[in-house]
This record gives sequence, structure tokens and C-alpha cells, in this order.
Amino acid sequence: MTQKKVEVIPATKRSVHNGGQLKVQSNVRVAAYCRVSTGDESQQTSYTTQKAFYTNLITNKPGWRFAGIYADEAKSGTSREHREDFNRMMADALDGKLDYIVTKSISRFARNTVDTLNCVRQLRQQNPPVGVYFEKENIDTLDATGELILTILSALAQDESRSISDNIRWSIQKNFQAGKPKVDLNRMLGYDKGANGEWVINPEQAKTVRYIFERYVCGQTANRIAKELNELGRKTVNKKNWSASSVLTVLRNEKYVGDIEMQKTITKDFLTHRSTINKGEAPRYYVENHHVGIIDRSTWDKAQTMLYEKPSKVGDSVPAQKKKRGYTGSPFGNLVCGAVLEHGERAGKECGEGFFRVTYTGVATGYTDDRSLAATGGDTDIYLEKYAYAYPVWRCKQKMGKREGEKPRQNGTPDQKLYCREKHGRLSDAERKAANERCPSESIHECALEQSFMEMLYRLKRDYEKNHEASEISTLFQKACEQMYQQMKGNSVSVERLETLDAQIKELGEKLQETIGRQVTAMRDAVLEQNLELNESLAEGNITLDEIDSDIRNGLTGNDIGTSFYHADYEEGSEIEAYASLAKDIRQRIESFRKEKETLSQEQGALTVMKKNFDLFIACLKELPEQNAAGMPLKVNGLDVQGSLFRDVDGKPVDGAIASLNRGRLKMTPERIAEAPDLLHFEKGIYCAFMKKGTVKGDIVLYETNFGVTLPTCGNQRTLTSFLGFKKCSLDGLVTLVDAPYRVYDNTVQYRRYLRSKAKREQAV
Ligand SMILES: [Zn+2]
Repeated sequence: MTQKKVEVIPATKRSVHNGGQLKVQSNVRVAAYCRVSTGDESQQTSYTTQKAFYTNLITNKPGWRFAGIYADEAKSGTSREHREDFNRMMADALDGKLDYIVTKSISRFARNTVDTLNCVRQLRQQNPPVGVYFEKENIDTLDATGELILTILSALAQDESRSISDNIRWSIQKNFQAGKPKVDLNRMLGYDKGANGEWVINPEQAKTVRYIFERYVCGQTANRIAKELNELGRKTVNKKNWSASSVLTVLRNEKYVGDIEMQKTITKDFLTHRSTINKGEAPRYYVENHHVGIIDRSTWDKAQTMLYEKPSKVGDSVPAQKKKRGYTGSPFGNLVCGAVLEHGERAGKECGEGFFRVTYTGVATGYTDDRSLAATGGDTDIYLEKYAYAYPVWRCKQKMGKREGEKPRQNGTPDQKLYCREKHGRLSDAERKAANERCPSESIHECALEQSFMEMLYRLKRDYEKNHEASEISTLFQKACEQMYQQMKGNSVSVERLETLDAQIKELGEKLQETIGRQVTAMRDAVLEQNLELNESLAEGNITLDEIDSDIRNGLTGNDIGTSFYHADYEEGSEIEAYASLAKDIRQRIESFRKEKETLSQEQGALTVMKKNFDLFIACLKELPEQNAAGMPLKVNGLDVQGSLFRDVDGKPVDGAIASLNRGRLKMTPERIAEAPDLLHFEKGIYCAFMKKGTVKGDIVLYETNFGVTLPTCGNQRTLTSFLGFKKCSLDGLVTLVDAPYRVYDNTVQYRRYLRSKAKREQAV
């Protein structure tokens, strides 16, 4: 076996002079790279100083040839995007124009591990390799053990970058809390930046903003408004044509009413600095009357209630329900069944399952005629013409046979399909019994849900307008706020606590840096010592090369130097191990402090959001019309389940008022129409904006709102016939009295042909 000469580097202090592959070379082309952060005066001076220092250093070193200075002024260290000189330097190095790069520190070179290591490795793979010397850390990347130390230190640098990213984010958060937003007014229609950074309304652009809001609250769609704006020759802030989505963006922008909601987006990834929408990971802040609004508050509130925003749905966590079409788009998808189960393992507990929507069809008896049949040339001897109406009903999924562990499907399970045909008598008694044992809940008419919801809103509205702070809704909200406060106090929440946490995290962060620095020094010393020992032993012939651990050996030969470091054993009780466990301990403490800080900030944000939602809800109540489209005062009365007795909004029977208006048999006098209760227009926007979840318990639905209050509606089990005798006002002001069930859902009446019985008999033969 041939003795191989192992080259190790016995120096205890390395530098470009004696380090790495280049120590034997002369005429080394050395370049310097420096970078400073902008906006920092002391950094500005250091920029000039650094340049002078490196020029001096390189030109004066024997064997070195000055190959230039590359310098970048960087806004933040994490991204390489704005580092032109860095990229130029990399290109030159890969082009074979440089042999060595000298730079102040790892954090000045690149601030994330991946980036640093990629560049360094790329440079080392060149033939001949290009080295980087980090002055502060005293690391030469062509040196033995260089890469490992680099890995550790880069990881540290990354931690540092993360904490800087956190710091920036946190300071933005703090600014937000103080009401100081960071908005690019150049990219916002309607406002310019004033001389002192204040918000100034741009009159011409503001016209467009007002136009959008005014048209929208008048009932125009975003699509139509975009078309109108384009016809008028108006442009977006980016000088582009309007589209429905750009119109909606304006409508949703709270800055137009003078408010500002901050931290809509957050920087989650400190490496890419990319912003993502804040989906509740960080608190959002809402500041009212932050600047002069372009839109008045009542227009704004109205527009917001009209903007359709889908509420969260039961079972939304199921990823299979990506496409929302048809009934899944209905706001009542957030209802859950509150029926108490009577059978099975969960007997005595609430069902808790979601609802699904099914459309039944009914034949409108007494409304047959042959005109349509005759007009289309149908044979009236064979066919009979009838009208059918469709009405949506909500049913519990559990009752309909949702199977264990099965995802809810768009079109229902086979059992559900079967049950949906029940109207036609295709469900056997046994099947019906099984369904009732699964869940005893009843189906609910959609129109009853809509009507009862609106009745509740009017009840709250009238109570609030009469009693203000003493009203039911205000009292409930006060309680909800107090509860929230108590909860926060239970967590010893206070601004001081947040400040203390901040200080503790900062202090621990510094301690961590120091500890890891010591750990790295200890590791480096240990490896160098080990190398030295090995080398001596080899030289003295005490051991042969074969006896050296192959990893170590590989690490000491060829180009792939330094790998031995990975396998350095930390002896128990050694200095390295002590520092490592100390660092681990500090990290854990920092992590727990960070978590506490996060929770506290979120809770504070939650209370603000709650208050904002409540105020908006009250604004919506105030905006509810007191007249229908025909200018008649709205009669908001509840009805009992059978629809036989009128009740006022408080549920008290109205004296002598019996809903015997049935099947159009009553004469429609103007007085009777004026006295009839209204079939109310369902405000889908209000429902979607505030109702998080609804639990159906028989005739009552308990709605959980997004301002911490639970509101009950009653009369949900009313049927279509319950609404007979109600008055209905269309948007063009036409008033009709509901005298047939299909009039409740008159848009969906269809005409159908049926075979006459004679024709049926003939067909059978
Ligand atoms: Zn149920």
C-alpha cells in the first residue's frame, strides 16, 4: 500500500495568506465586496470607509492584485434582487476574472444560508476555485473546515435576518396600532400625497370613486359600472380600462370612507419578503376617520352590505368542496342541526351536522289552463296543462344518511337522493323510520329562514332605535365585550406585558448570538486540534491512513475539504456541548415568549374587530328601509307555525287579526293590503357579513355573529302556506297579496304537460 501524503492545515489562525488552496499561488486577483444598508447615516460613512479600506488592503498585500471593488447599497439584506454589483461580481468570478473575494462579514455578503452557500459552492466549483474570505468571522471558504463553519454562521445570519424581519414587521404593527399606516398613495385612486405626507383628495379621481359607489348602491352590478366607466373614458389608477374586479376593489376599499384597516397583508416568509393576505395569522387594525373620506358613511355602509361575501360554510375544511356552485353558494350553508338525538351512541347530544339544500316541486292546483298548450299546437285531448312551482328546503345531512367519514358530496349520497324523492311517495316506512332515528329534525323552508331572519333584524332595529344603549342588542354586546376583556385579563394581558416580552425577546436574542459565537469558536478549536493530532500521529507513524475514520480522511483530501467537521464528536461535558445546550435552552425560551406575544396581539386585535363589526351591524340596522318599494309603511309581523294567527314583532298575538286570507278567497281591498304583513326582502349581504354560524333548534335558529353576540330568530318552521295573506312588493312598486303558495316563489313557476287519464289508458293498452 502506498503511503499517501495528507495535507492538513495546522494553522490556528487562518487568513487569506496561509489559507486554502491559494497560499502557494502568487499574483492572486482579489476583489472586495461591500454592502451597506441605506437610510442609516453611520452606514453611509462606513460605505466610503469600507471602499477605501479594501482598496488599500488589496493593493498593499504582496502577491495580491487588485481586481476591483464591488459595492451595493441594499435596502434590506434578505433579498438579492437589488444587488446589481453582487450579481456583476458573481458573473465576473464565474467568468474566471477573479481568484478571491474579500468581504467584511457573512451578513454583509448574503443573509440567508441557502444563498450564501449556493454562491460559495458555485465559486468553489470553478477551475481554479474562487474563494471568499470573510474578515469578521475569519473564514476562508477554500480552507479546511471552512464550509462547515460557514454553514453554522450562515444559519446564524439567517436567524439574525429573521429577527430583523420580525422587528420590521413588529414596528409596522406598532405603527399601525398608533394609526400610522404605510400606504402607497401613488397607487390609490382618489388620493394624492400632500407636501407633509398627508392625504389629499384628487378631485378628478374622486369623481370616479363617487360614481362607482353611487351606481352600486343604486343596484348596478360591478360589471355594468365598469362598462359605463369605460364608455365615459375614465381610467383606473394604472391608466387601464375598468373591469368588474377593479370596480369591486374600489368598493371594498375602506379608505374611501376615511377609515383604514391595517395589516391586510403580512410578510410571512422572511426569505422572499413576499406578502400574503393576512388570514388571521396576525392582528388587523381598523382605524376610523383616519383621513377625510371621499364617500359618506351611509353610502359606504350600504355598499358593504350589498357586497356579497360568502360566509364560512360548515365543513369548509374539507378540501373537496373547492368549486362552489348552485346551492352551496347559498348563505344558509353555515347552518348546523341542533336537534337532540334520541337513538344511537350519541343519544342525548346535539346532532351538529350541516344542512343541505334540496328543491321540491309542487303542482299549483287550480291554475290549469290550455292557452300555452294551444299556442304551441299541443293536443288538448291528450295533454293537460298544469303549473308547477319549485321551492327550496334545507334538510339535515345526518338525517338524510351522511355516512360515517364520508365527505359531503355536491349532489348528496344515494340515501339523500332517495329521501329527496320522498314527496313522490318513494320512501318506505322503514326508510323513514331509519331517517328519523338518525336525526329527528324537520326540514325548513328557505323562505321561512329568510323571513324569520329579516323579522329578527327589524325587531332589533326598532328596539335599538327606541332604547339605544339599553336595547337588547347593545346590552348583549356589552356583555360580550366584558367577557372578552375578562378572558384577556385571565391571560394577564396588558400593554406593559407586551413591552416586557419585547424586551425579553431582544435580550435573549443577543444572548443567543453570543452563545453560538462561543460555541462556534469552541468547535473550530476542537477540529483544528483534532486535525493537528491526526497529522502528528500520521507523521510519527503511530497510525496509518486506513485507521482514520473514512469520513475524516475524505474530509482531509481532495477538493472536498472540511467535511470532517460534521462528524466531530462533542464529548459530554465539553465546552461545545455546554454551549449547544445553553443555546437550545435560550431558543426554547425565545420561542415561548414569541408565542405569548402572538396570542396577546391577536386578542387585542380581535376586540377591535368585534367592535368594528358591531358598529357596522348597527349601521345596517339603521339603514333597513321603513317603507317598501311602493312607499307603503312596512308591516313586520311574525306568524305562528300554521300561519293562522298574526303576531307582532315581539311575538304577542295581534288582537282580532286572524290570517284567514286563504287561497285568494278574500277580497283585496286597499285597507286589507295596507294591513297585511310584508314578505320581506332578504338582505343577503347583512346575513353574509355578520352571521358566522346558525344552529337550528326546531322553530328557532341561534345565530352566532362575528361581534360575539348570539341572536335568536323564531318561526323557522313556517310552510309556504303560512305566508298566504302576506303582501309582496316587487322592486318596481307593484304590490300583490300572496294568495297561493307558489306566489311566495313566483319566479320559479313552470308550466308542465301531463297526459290526460284517457290518453294514459290508451297508452297502457
Ligand atoms: Zn340533524
